[in-house]
Amino acid sequence: MKRVKKILVVFVMTFAVLGTWAALRAFSAQAAEGPKMYTITYNANGGEGEPEGQKKIHDVTLILPSEIPTRAGYKFRGWATTTHPQDIYPAGAEYTANRGAKFYAIWDVNEYTIHYNANDGFGAPDDQKKIKGETLVLSDVMPIRVGYEFRGWATTTHPDELFDAGAEYSYDRGANFYAIWKQLPYGANKVTLDGVKEHHFVSSDYCFIETEKCVYLLDKGIEIPGDFVENVEAIVDAIEELLGLSYQPDTYEQASVNKLYGVYSSPEYPWEGWKAGKKIQIFLNVNSEISYAQRTGAMLAKIDLYFVETEDPESPTTLPETEKQAHIDYAMIAHELTHTFSQRSCYTSKMMTEGLADYVKVRVLNSLSADHPSIAIAKDHMVLHNWYLPEAVNADTAERIFMDDYHNASVIEREDGYYVGRVLCTFLSERFGDDFYRRYNDIIYAKHLMYFYGIWTEENAQAFTDGMKEAFGEDVFIEFGNWCVEHDQCQRIIYKE
Ligand SMILES: [Zn+2]
Repeated sequence: MKRVKKILVVFVMTFAVLGTWAALRAFSAQAAEGPKMYTITYNANGGEGEPEGQKKIHDVTLILPSEIPTRAGYKFRGWATTTHPQDIYPAGAEYTANRGAKFYAIWDVNEYTIHYNANDGFGAPDDQKKIKGETLVLSDVMPIRVGYEFRGWATTTHPDELFDAGAEYSYDRGANFYAIWKQLPYGANKVTLDGVKEHHFVSSDYCFIETEKCVYLLDKGIEIPGDFVENVEAIVDAIEELLGLSYQPDTYEQASVNKLYGVYSSPEYPWEGWKAGKKIQIFLNVNSEISYAQRTGAMLAKIDLYFVETEDPESPTTLPETEKQAHIDYAMIAHELTHTFSQRSCYTSKMMTEGLADYVKVRVLNSLSADHPSIAIAKDHMVLHNWYLPEAVNADTAERIFMDDYHNASVIEREDGYYVGRVLCTFLSERFGDDFYRRYNDIIYAKHLMYFYGIWTEENAQAFTDGMKEAFGEDVFIEFGNWCVEHDQCQRIIYKE
C-alpha cells in the first residue's frame, strides 16, 4: 500500500511539473517495470480441482481457465465473487474488469439419493444416485421379510406409487423408499419365547420364530421349553466361532424355504412362497420319520423333538405315533447345525462330514454346559460312537480307510465313519489348531467338485484324500494312524466269521 501511494505521488508531481509528454514518458518508465496487474484466485467451494491463480493485466482481457472443478452430486455452473455474485463466469470466459477477484465455484444440485428401507425385513439394497435429467434403473435386489412377499417400493410421501425392483425412476428428486409387504399364510404367526425353561410353548398352528441368524419353522403341535431358542442360538454362535465359517458365506445362495419332502409331500406345504434369505432354516417337526436322505440337503436343519412310538401295520401311509423326548437333544442339534455350516461352504466326504459334526457337538456342548443348564443335561446323555471297527486305524490303513469312506457300507459301517471321522478331527485339531477344518474346506472348495453327499465315486474320494495332504502334508495319514495307535483310538476290531 505504501509503495503504491509513493508511485502515485511521483506520477502526480511529474505531471504537474513537466507536462503531459514528460508525464507519459515517466509513466512508460513505470510500465517498463511491469504493467499494472490484478490477482485472480479460485476456490472450489466444497468441490475439488480448482485452477491455479492467474494475473490480470490492466486493460488486457483475461481468459479464465477452461478446467472445471468437480463436486460429487453437483454440476459446475461457473465462477463468481461474493461481491458480485450475480456475475457468473463460465469456465473459459473472458474477464475484462480491471480489478482482482477471489472466485468461488457456483454449484447446481445434479444428483439425488435413493435410499431403501427394508421396513421390518432385511437385505435392502444400497443407496443409489439419481442424476438430474437421466433415468435411473432401481436396484434389482429384493429385500426379504420372513412370512411376507415383497410387493415393491414406495415413499411415504407417494405411498400409492409402487416401484418394482429394477424399475425405471425418472423423477428429479431423491426418495426414501420403504418395502411394501404382503403377508403370506402363517406370516402373522410369528412367536417369541420368554426364555424361561419351565414355560413351555405349544404351537396350535404352523408358526415361526425369527432371530438374527435363524428362522425356526414350527409344525402344529410342537412343544418347546422357553429357553429353547436361546440355547440353539448359543450353539449356532459357538459353531461359527469354532469352525471359523460364516453361517452365510458369500458363495451360498438360498432363495426359498426348502421343502421337506417327507413331511410336506401332501398338498399342505405351509411355507409355500416363503423366503428366509441366508438365515438358517430350522424345521421343528413332530414326525421323526423323515430320514436325512429325504431332506433337500443339510443347508437347513431338521430337528426332531419326538420319538416314533408305534407304527400302524394296517395303514402304513399314516404317520407313526410319536412321543415327546424326555429332554431336548442339543447334541443332535449341534450335529445337524454343523452340517448346515460346513455344507453351506462345500460338501466333503461322508466320513469328514459326519466326523466333523460329532467332533463339533462334543466341543460345543462342553463349552456351553456351564452357562446353559439344558445343554448340560443333553451333554450328560450324549451318545458317541466308540466301538469295534472292521479294521484298526494305523499308519498302514489310515489313508485307505479315509479314501474308502465305507462307501458300500451297511448301516453299522456307516456309523463307523462317524467314529473314525470324529477321531480324525480330534487329531487334526490337536496337531493343526482349531481352524483345521477351515483350511481343508478352502482347499476342497477350490476343487469345484460335483458331489452329492454320500454318493461315493473314485474321483471324488481321491480329491478328498488329496485335499487332506494339501492341507496337512503328505504324511498326514501316516501321522494320523500313528496317533490312533498311541492314543488307543479306533483300535478295537470286530471279528467277523
Ligand atoms: Zn450327520
